[in-house]
Amino acid sequence: MHELSVCGSIAGIVERRAAGRQVRVIHLRIGQLRQIVPDTLVYCWDLLSADTELAGSRLEVESIPVRIRCRGCDRSAELGDLPVFACGGCMSTDVEVIAGEEFLITALDLAEGAST
Ligand SMILES: [Zn+2]
Repeated sequence: MHELSVCGSIAGIVERRAAGRQVRVIHLRIGQLRQIVPDTLVYCWDLLSADTELAGSRLEVESIPVRIRCRGCDRSAELGDLPVFACGGCMSTDVEVIAGEEFLITALDLAEGAST
């Protein structure tokens, strides 16, 4: 499952950043192009972290909508539900993705109240 391997990567990064401190909340920013279902990710995280030092921590996922920019007329727009990579202004398909590919751990809430 895609989300399970993603959780494995998150756990590796978080363990290094936390350096033994107890983690309460992991804030993530995930672009919709990543094809990650936040609910599934949270479920996998609970499974994966259960027997580790990250047990009891939870994920806060912020979904970033896909945005494209047209190279022809410079118009930018959210892609919405339609996976059509074309400009709504001039119908050009010469567009670039300017948001939606993010995969970031933006912050960790640690038990001591400190944050990184
Ligand atoms: Zn255009």
